[in-house]
Amino acid sequence: MNYKQILSIAIVAIFMVACATNPFTGKSTLALVPNSQILPMAFQQYDQFLTENKVINGTPQANMVKNVGQKISSAAERYLTANGYAGYLTDYRWEYNLVEDPAINAWCMPGGKIVFYTGIMPIAQNEAGVAAIMGHEVAHALANHGQQRMSAGQLQQLAAVGVAVGTASSENAAIYNQAFGVGSNVLGMLPFSRSHETEADRIGLTLMAIAGYDPLVGARLWERMSQQGGGAPPEFLSTHPANQTRINNIMQWAPEARAEARKYGVTTFKN
Ligand SMILES: [Zn+2]
Repeated sequence: MNYKQILSIAIVAIFMVACATNPFTGKSTLALVPNSQILPMAFQQYDQFLTENKVINGTPQANMVKNVGQKISSAAERYLTANGYAGYLTDYRWEYNLVEDPAINAWCMPGGKIVFYTGIMPIAQNEAGVAAIMGHEVAHALANHGQQRMSAGQLQQLAAVGVAVGTASSENAAIYNQAFGVGSNVLGMLPFSRSHETEADRIGLTLMAIAGYDPLVGARLWERMSQQGGGAPPEFLSTHPANQTRINNIMQWAPEARAEARKYGVTTFKN
């Protein structure tokens, strides 16, 4: 390794390592690439995804995704403001789109860029089911889980090219899309760790409750997920195992999510 290589690695290392507090858990997490770099790349990937897929507009389902999305994002804003993190979402540009695709999938990129696939809608079943999925996916984004599941090498690569965001390469796009579960190709997806799944479930329940939805619907949703198998490829299930432990945890946490929501004046919960 020559001097130049060592220097560039050192610069990247200094550039990358920063700590952020997860506002939901109070835990310190490593924010390896700052939002100022991650978000422009997310917005670019999202726009590209929308041009390459069939976005549905104006149907009852598409409207439902947007409507629930606004309620979940406003719940996140209320929660973060109340807990002293008013600025946390400043750079978010919330967007909620339904795309025509039979895959059972949904995701939220950093910065609040959400996609639901038509394939997940029958499992979501109704507004409250959409809220359960969306609360969970938004929680992953808020807690920066996506970048934590990239490998150090991938992050280094991403950080190194961060300065040239406007011209993100297809290689960077691939890393990005893997980390955030974008697309229908299950093979390329990186799974969230079990602890990230648990954290996203818990935060998601709080968000859906503040948005006015019964958190217990989350348990029923995962029961329906667990009944999937044959037919459409279960993309979502490969990264989100629908097991009994998860369902039991959700039932156990639902009362505390409802109690939290009451602090925001929410007393009735749609199911
Ligand atoms: Zn998840």
